[in-house]
Amino acid sequence: MLNSADIKRMAAEVGFDACGIARADALTDEEYPLRTWLARGWHAELQYMERNVEKRMDPRLLVEGARSVICVVSAYGPPDPDRTDGVAAYAQRREYHEVMKPMLQELKARLGIDGKVCCDTVPISDKHWAARAGLGWIGRHTLLVTPQWGSWVNLGEIVTTEECSEYSEHSEYSDFCSKCGRCVAACPNQALAPLKQSSNQAIKQSYMLNLNRCTAYYTTHHQRPMPTDLDAHGYTCGCDLCQLACPFNQKVGGKIK
Ligand code: SF4
Ligand code: SF4
Repeated sequence: MLNSADIKRMAAEVGFDACGIARADALTDEEYPLRTWLARGWHAELQYMERNVEKRMDPRLLVEGARSVICVVSAYGPPDPDRTDGVAAYAQRREYHEVMKPMLQELKARLGIDGKVCCDTVPISDKHWAARAGLGWIGRHTLLVTPQWGSWVNLGEIVTTEECSEYSEHSEYSDFCSKCGRCVAACPNQALAPLKQSSNQAIKQSYMLNLNRCTAYYTTHHQRPMPTDLDAHGYTCGCDLCQLACPFNQKVGGKIK
């Protein structure tokens, strides 16, 4: 059995800003919202999202006998205020796969475990696992919000068959988000679904992003030109508007890395 405190200490030594551990289990509550999002066609041309839905929702289908999901956060901070080239904060830094994947592999080697390193290209729902691991909650802009670094974070995981000594408690949706909605109002393209408050399931369905209306989609995927009725607001790579509106992101000062 792995000691959870040791995992977190080693993750910090490798350079991660936060680490949490969730028990590998099915994301039963998240499957219906994901399938609703796909049925609406809000994944635009990202056909790969239609594949491996079951694996996305259950890491035990990714790694046979998986018991734990070790989740890590690497914070990159808000956009550089001196840049005027329309490049979003995440893209102002070194390409994150180049940074995070070797760090995850190093953590796995230090722990001496078998497991699958996940860094964007593996069908696993990063934000839901990070929320389950107690690292934050999912905001209405559909990104993970951490208490320390807001949503200016990249996420990664190691799915392992090892049992851990302690698993995090989680709270996936915060009351603050359900009463706020500043990110929804800040989007010039109404890409974020308006709030419904009738039930927990309806709230989950309202935390959805329509990629067909999202600047960040068109400026990073290029499958088709951005429709002329949408407003890129000067962005040429990504878009930070909904994140800039979030009070948790405004608390994060300076350029982190
Ligand atoms: S990234 Fe930009 S276009 Fe996309 S939801 Fe956020 S504010 Fe709207
Ligand atoms: S702007 Fe408000 S609703 Fe949106 S993620 Fe931040 S706290 Fe939640």
